[in-house]
Amino acid sequence: MSRSTPRYTRRGFVGGTLAGGVAAGLGSDAVAAGRDASAGPPPRCTRQLEARAQDGPVLQLDPLDSPVRIDSLRLLRATTDAGPYYFVHVRSQDGAEGYSVANFWVTELYPIFSRRVAPFFVGKDARDLEFLVDEVYRHRSNYKLQSLGLWCPVAWVEFALLDMLGRMLGKPVGQLMGGVRRRRIPVYPASGNRGNPPEAEVEHLARLLADTGCRAVKFRVGGRMSNNEDSLPGRSEALIPLARRRLGDDVTLFADANSSYDVRHSIRLGRLMEAHNYGFFEEPCPFDWLEETRQVTAALEMPIAWGEQESSHWAFRWMIAHHGMDIVQPDLHYFGGFIRTARVARMCQAAGLPLSLHLSGGLGYSQMLHFTSCMPNLYDFQEFKGDVRQTGGWFDPPILFRDGRLNVPTAPGFGMVAAADLVQNAEQVG
Ligand SMILES: [Mg+2]
Repeated sequence: MSRSTPRYTRRGFVGGTLAGGVAAGLGSDAVAAGRDASAGPPPRCTRQLEARAQDGPVLQLDPLDSPVRIDSLRLLRATTDAGPYYFVHVRSQDGAEGYSVANFWVTELYPIFSRRVAPFFVGKDARDLEFLVDEVYRHRSNYKLQSLGLWCPVAWVEFALLDMLGRMLGKPVGQLMGGVRRRRIPVYPASGNRGNPPEAEVEHLARLLADTGCRAVKFRVGGRMSNNEDSLPGRSEALIPLARRRLGDDVTLFADANSSYDVRHSIRLGRLMEAHNYGFFEEPCPFDWLEETRQVTAALEMPIAWGEQESSHWAFRWMIAHHGMDIVQPDLHYFGGFIRTARVARMCQAAGLPLSLHLSGGLGYSQMLHFTSCMPNLYDFQEFKGDVRQTGGWFDPPILFRDGRLNVPTAPGFGMVAAADLVQNAEQVG
């Protein structure tokens, strides 16, 4: 093993993740992510975690001293050089504007946006956004739709409102969320393949690394929600050692089971990953098997990552309180936006658990960059899916890969300066 590669064990987290954070110049608050052992045991009490989550507002909007009434929220389908994209456009009664880009679920979820989410926000004061993202859950019994089906449309509205507020204040979104701490984010590409032969997959992983300059990469194991079946007989057991052999000891490797295994099979696969020094094992058990995921976390030395499917603040709180995972992976869209995710991040920080956001592609990388620009407790790498060569130029400055890192746009809001042009001939769909 290379001397530069840390040994990935949970107990090594403070030494590994922390040292990496400090070496990367992440600032003193990053140290709190892995917690100083001298600070005593982290809180595992739900009451303490909740107090931390609710400890003051997430947003800093002080300079806005008069109401910002939302006049309209529209869902627009734009044809771009990079293909069709769905934008949310918000306008205030005073003519301020903001934009966001939806994820691919929009083609299924636009009626929830149009009928249940957007009408709730119209007429409200955008400065009350933290209150509004909680109230929309209660509005017209929307909580009965609790899942990404409700929270994705809420996230798209929240992103557009944050963009508008940021433009009004002349600040990037991170400055509204406690201040920008870093302007370049280390990421890892994630392979979307499953069911291809191990030899073909490691060649694909090598290409992903070469194309991006990244130092970490993730691939899929198991059969996805498959009750222990693999996508090809023996694929996962062959791929785990082969990827290490082919890609070398200096690359950090992650494997994602997408809910494939029960506890026994998860531990068996995890032991194989431990033998090859994998960085984390993601979603080993079905995503809502909270207790089983906790058992796998407790049994293995290596870190377990979890959280992409979760849409409940209280389920995250339970998992954090019970050390159900080592690395916390909310999805900014699936979980309903920056404000709700920031509350989870506060609980993670209190418990010494780092964040590594889940991405579902599209323009998700741009939202990830702004969110992680201002969070204190990050894991060494954030997920990357998407194509910055096609859409990175929509931002100011353009988002580019450099040495496995992506730069955070600095223009106000999300920095998507091309938005107004991109939607000029768009069709309104909601
Ligand atoms: Mg996953």
